[in-house]
Amino acid sequence: MQGQMMHRPLRIIDILLHAAEAHAAEGIVSARVEGDLHRQSYPQTLVRVAQLAQALTALGVEQGDRVATLAWNGHQHFELYYGVSGIGAVCHTLNPRLSHEQLLYIIAHADDRLLFLDLSFVPLIEAILPDLPQGLRFVILTDRAHMPDCSFDALCYEDLLAAQPPDFDWPTFPEDTAAGLCYTSGTTGNPKGALYTHRSTLLHALQVPLCQTSSFRAGARVLPVVPLFHVNAWGLPYVAPLTGMTLVMPGPNLDGASLFRLMEAEGVYSAWGVPTVWAGLLAEIKAQGRIPSGFADLVVGGSAMPRVMIEAYETRGVIVSQAWGMTETSPIGAYGVLSPALQTALLPERITAKCCAGRRLFGVDYKIVDDAGQRLPHDGQAAGELYIRGNTVISGYFNNPEATRAAMDSEGWFGTGDVASVSPEGRLTIRDRSKDLVKSGGEWISSIDLENAALSHPGIAACAVIAVPHPKWDERPVLVAVATGSERPTLADVCTHMASHFAKWQLPDDLLWVEALPMTATGKVSKLTLRDQFADYIHP
Ligand code: ADP
Repeated sequence: MQGQMMHRPLRIIDILLHAAEAHAAEGIVSARVEGDLHRQSYPQTLVRVAQLAQALTALGVEQGDRVATLAWNGHQHFELYYGVSGIGAVCHTLNPRLSHEQLLYIIAHADDRLLFLDLSFVPLIEAILPDLPQGLRFVILTDRAHMPDCSFDALCYEDLLAAQPPDFDWPTFPEDTAAGLCYTSGTTGNPKGALYTHRSTLLHALQVPLCQTSSFRAGARVLPVVPLFHVNAWGLPYVAPLTGMTLVMPGPNLDGASLFRLMEAEGVYSAWGVPTVWAGLLAEIKAQGRIPSGFADLVVGGSAMPRVMIEAYETRGVIVSQAWGMTETSPIGAYGVLSPALQTALLPERITAKCCAGRRLFGVDYKIVDDAGQRLPHDGQAAGELYIRGNTVISGYFNNPEATRAAMDSEGWFGTGDVASVSPEGRLTIRDRSKDLVKSGGEWISSIDLENAALSHPGIAACAVIAVPHPKWDERPVLVAVATGSERPTLADVCTHMASHFAKWQLPDDLLWVEALPMTATGKVSKLTLRDQFADYIHP
């Protein structure tokens, strides 16, 4: 028998309509490219989003059209999230850290009609202009006074908005309508598009605060360092207005000193981003001998946060939670708030629990399978490839049947490419990316575990473990490291330091020093680049 309840399609714009009413005192603080600090409440934001929707309509943007953004975290980028999806078009965020070749591929593949860009990205567009599709139009996210002299025709964002009335009759459409498009950073092959829907985005925004409870407090301030140009800034542009938090947008300056200054000035309570960013902030915290006032909650994801860094923040009074996710999972699939029993446990036990990727997010199912595709038990020990399923997980890649076939299994689960174990309580431990595992003599070694242990050596500031070919063992682990000071520890020193956590055969065979580790477009250590860099490495 069917129930008798109304069916109202889920729409992203309803988040902002709600926030403008229920959380009218909150809003967005933006450190802008122009150099100032800009403030805008949610009601003011709603007016501007309505003007944007009017302007998009006047420019001929239709439902389903892709509208690209090339912008830092700021209020105008937020407005595009809502204005574009609000009229039924698709907000396609471009990652400016990708190579020119990848950007050109993505813009052509997505068939973008309009591109909104921050002033800082004018030179980037000029560099790729001859290869961009004809007919792509540009809007620069600034006012008339700051419009640059550029070699392409561009509209001025603030002029566009100013010419429009302050309201819009928001259309209703099926909740599975596409709302956002984000490409993976394509570490192997071409980038692949995840096409989010209104429904998946809304459900993600509801699921996250339900689970990641410590981070959300009405009236408090949250800092997304995680970019709006990658996986929806982990959902914060939706969850913050929904839960009544003010967003503090950092703009282009993401070094430790700039972040510290902004957090201190704006009283940021919760901050979200990848571990490399928090390494920069930690250095500034150590230099100043204190944490920014009011800072109490740190959410970290994108890659595993080293144990020493978790300890450094926790012992300074900041609650650290890891989250796990992917572009394909909206992105959060596991969150790291501890159970009440663990919250009162002693520090070492708490830190150990925080070193895993977190607990299963409500609404997301896991299975781990062996090489033959057989399910493995969720006993916290067995490790296999993680497959996931849920309303916030892609059902395929945008216009890419080949990649879709490779990613989805016959039961409709999505293969993450992560090797993981799952405890009976749904606690997820990421052992490695399957392509980063070191396979030595038929046994595998987790590069993440080795990196974690090596980083606790005071002489190592940053490191990555890669597999190098070996005539007898197939592959062996090699540690690539950046030294803390001028005194470099020897391989023997580091191995002695790590010995209690590993069998002897699991320890690295060599230690190679570099000035800095290469980074991916999403701020993670690029093991692909390292593997290329040391492709000719001869085993000692
Ligand atoms: P890309 O960097 O290629 O765009 P994503 O940003 O979607 O891809 O990154 C997804 C991957 O990042 C995951 O599959 C996983 O390997 C890694 N990752 C994300 N969060 C964590 C975490 N907390 N611990 C370990 N690895 C993580």
